[in-house]
Amino acid sequence: MKHNIMKTRLGITVLLLVIGFFVSSYSVVCDDNKPKGPEGRAKNVILMIGDGMGITQVSGTMTVSGNKLNMTTTKNIGFARTQSYDNYVTDSAAGGTAIASGKKTRNGMIGMGPDSINVEPITELLRRKKKMSYGLVSTSAVTHATPASFVAHNINRNDYEGIALDFVRYQPDVFIGGGKSNFVKRRDQRNLVKVLENDGYEVVFTMEDLLKVKTEKVAGLLADGHLPRYSEGRDYMLAEATNAALGILSRNDNGFFLMVEGSQIDWGGHDNNPQYVIEETYDFDLAVGVALQFAARDKNTLIIVTADHETGGMALTGGNLEDRSVLASFSTNGHTGVVVPVFSFGPGAENFTGFFDNTEYYVKIKETLRVR
Ligand code: MG
Ligand code: ZN
Repeated sequence: MKHNIMKTRLGITVLLLVIGFFVSSYSVVCDDNKPKGPEGRAKNVILMIGDGMGITQVSGTMTVSGNKLNMTTTKNIGFARTQSYDNYVTDSAAGGTAIASGKKTRNGMIGMGPDSINVEPITELLRRKKKMSYGLVSTSAVTHATPASFVAHNINRNDYEGIALDFVRYQPDVFIGGGKSNFVKRRDQRNLVKVLENDGYEVVFTMEDLLKVKTEKVAGLLADGHLPRYSEGRDYMLAEATNAALGILSRNDNGFFLMVEGSQIDWGGHDNNPQYVIEETYDFDLAVGVALQFAARDKNTLIIVTADHETGGMALTGGNLEDRSVLASFSTNGHTGVVVPVFSFGPGAENFTGFFDNTEYYVKIKETLRVR
C-alpha cells in the first residue's frame, strides 16, 4: 500500500517589514481616477505577470501594505489554472508559453508546442494583424523564461544565448531588463548590441540613459545577469521602466502590447523567504500603479495582472494588522499547481473573470481586441 506522506517545512518566519519603500513617487491610484470598466474599447494591453505570485503572496502583501495594493482595487477578478502539457506543476517556460501563445507545452520549452513546433506569441500576432507595437519589461534577464516566452522559440529555456538571438531576429520594439552578457559575452563572439544598433535600436545600460531615449526601438540591458533585489539596489527600476516603456510604446497610434514581469517574487518563494516575496510583490504592485495611471489618462487600455504559477506553497499562519506583519510558512521550495489570481482593469476586463485556463489569456486578448 502506498502512503502519501506530506512533508511540512516548519520554517516559520516572523515578518515585520519596516516599510521605508512606501514613500514612493509611485503612489497608489485612488478610486476615482481608475480606468472604468467595460465602456470604451481596448486599444492597448498591459499584461503584468507576478512570477510565482499566488493568492497568499498577494494576501500577505495586502497586510504588510495596510491594504493599499493597486492590484486589489478592481472588481474584475478571476482565477487561472496553470498546469502544463506534461506536468501538474508548471515551470515558467511552459507557463509563459501558455499565456503568450495559448498553447500548453512541456516544462522547459519556450514558444513551441509539445511537438517542438513553434507557436506565434500574441505579441507577434498583434504586430502582424494590427501593426501594434510590443514591449517587455522584467527584473530578470530579458532572456529568462517569462519574457522570452513572448519573443523566442527554444526547446531549452536555459539556452540564453540562443534566446538573445531571437530578440535580434524578432525585434520587440522595447525590451528592458537584465541579460546584457547574453548579448555581448557570447560563445559565438558576436556582439548583438552592435547588431541591434545597426537595426535602429537605441541600446542603453543605465536607468538614467533609458529616460533620455529618443527612438521608438529601445533595448535597456540594465545588468549583466538579473537585476538585484528591490532592497539590494534595484529601487524603483520596475515602475520606472514600465513608465518609460509606456511612453515609448504609446506613440504608436495602432496601439501596443506591454508585458511587465515582477520576476523575483518567484525567487523569494524558492528561497522560502517571506520578506523577499513580499517586498517583490509590493514592488510589482507599484508598477501596476504606473500602468493604472497611464490607463486612467488613456482610457483605451486593458490591464491584466496575474501569475504564471504559485511558488513555495506559501501559507500565512499568523499576523498582525496593526503592526502590518505576517507569519509565513512554506510547503516546498518549488512551484505548486494551485490556481492563480487574475485582476483586470479597463475595457474588456470583464472577460478575464471566473475560472479559466492559462491558455485562454491569448484567446481572450484576441477577442477583446477583435483580432481575426
Ligand atoms: Mg519569470
Ligand atoms: Zn520558479
